[in-house]
Amino acid sequence: MTKIISKEELEYQKKYAEKVRLILNGLSSERGEALRFSVVTYGCQQNEADSERLAGMLSDMGYEKTDDVKEADLILVNTCAVREHAEVRALSVTGQYKHLKEKKPSLMIGVCGCMVSQEHRLDDIKFKYPYVDFAFGTSYLWQLPSIIYARLTKKKRLFMLDAEDEGNIAEDLPVMRECSYRAWLSVMYGCNNYCTYCVVPHVRGRERSRTKEDIIKEAKELIADGVKDITLLGQNVNSYGKTLYPDYGFAELLSDINAIDGDFTLRFMTSHPKDATKKLIDTMARCEKCAPQLHLPLQSGSDRILKRMNRRYTLESYKELVSYAREKIPGVVLTSDIIVGFPGETEEDFDLTMQALSDIKYDMVYSFIYSKRKNTPAAEYEDQVPDDIKGERFRRMLDLQNGIGQKINETYLNKTVRVLCDGISKTDADMLAGRTDGGKNVCFSGKAEEGEYVNVKITEARPFVLIGEIM
Ligand code: SAH
Ligand code: SF4
Repeated sequence: MTKIISKEELEYQKKYAEKVRLILNGLSSERGEALRFSVVTYGCQQNEADSERLAGMLSDMGYEKTDDVKEADLILVNTCAVREHAEVRALSVTGQYKHLKEKKPSLMIGVCGCMVSQEHRLDDIKFKYPYVDFAFGTSYLWQLPSIIYARLTKKKRLFMLDAEDEGNIAEDLPVMRECSYRAWLSVMYGCNNYCTYCVVPHVRGRERSRTKEDIIKEAKELIADGVKDITLLGQNVNSYGKTLYPDYGFAELLSDINAIDGDFTLRFMTSHPKDATKKLIDTMARCEKCAPQLHLPLQSGSDRILKRMNRRYTLESYKELVSYAREKIPGVVLTSDIIVGFPGETEEDFDLTMQALSDIKYDMVYSFIYSKRKNTPAAEYEDQVPDDIKGERFRRMLDLQNGIGQKINETYLNKTVRVLCDGISKTDADMLAGRTDGGKNVCFSGKAEEGEYVNVKITEARPFVLIGEIM
């Protein structure tokens, strides 16, 4: 059951935020400066969006933001559970904060997000990380004020596990966006697809959509606030609306947001191929603000493996959809996720995936080595692929995709593309970085401000990035 958090419950949290503010006022006047928070984020865009809400609530409580955890009085680690690697990293940084707490005993440390929505991980934090003050699963995000209040006023540590299958929607939480001109906009939460490898349905609860009114209101606020680039978020945006409306889905939502006045670009992720329809593609093609970008995770090119993954489409139906998209949206930037070494993946299955990549020719592929996730069916499959084979296939796939990405990027040579500038490049301080309307990474020379659109002439192509200069 989806629980809509009531206005009264949210008001109650506001009161807690006010109580925390009073306590922090006292503490900060004692020490002559404000108390500071740091939110450390792992994982997907949904987690980044959640962290912006956590930061918004903390700022409402009177904390100031710092990016330096050494300066922080409160560190909140927002974790991911999709692969073991993400969990190991989150646990390891949490481990490092022990030393910070030894130096500053008043430091408060919290852990939240998907990893601690799993009972065994919540227990790990509780018993193996005694310096962590509190941890809570994804469904408690909106209760941050009362959690902080409880920890500030009582000695007890707090650990809150989501009820299985629970899912809620909390509207109108304060938000502190990381970027003034790009924004996330969640249209739905949770997932009901139960791909056999995936932990998301277990940690994010059942699929539930926000009302179109709430989404459109938020979109209008973002646009009025000067946001130029909005990414609609959901684990499977194509099932938007199913829990709410008989005849209003994601395509209708896209059209309605597209119709809002203003100069902005609209993109979305993720689209599950089993639910992506021609109607969606037609809508994308028709909506002038919709970016020519489609992230359509294939996962495997073998129908046998797709079946074992419970993906519910075939390579053929997938390819048909891609052809349709390429026909209707010329120049569409197509990206995908692939899992390498899913249990039972034979050399022949893997070859089918390699063949699919060669045939489909993605702009970019996010490839992942299969990671066993507790409580998922695939973790129990007996025919697990040995690590060395997974690693070797992974490298072969990267090699293949590098070549494909390089070739596609070469088609941009000497062309001029519109780029939204994101400021100085992280890899080269003399260059600027940004993304095209289709979402391609561009590194370029010239002068531009963050958040400014510029025309860039492409002079060099690399597998993951286009190089150019401002016209
Ligand atoms: N809802 C999105 C995906 C969310 S998870 C979708 O269905 O497309 C992001 C990606 O992580 C997935 O597409 C998948 O490729 C990868 N992934 C998920 N679980 C995984 C696992 N157990 N091991 C390796 N990769 C995984
Ligand atoms: Fe995971 Fe599949 Fe849901 Fe995506 S659709 S979140 S891969 S279960």
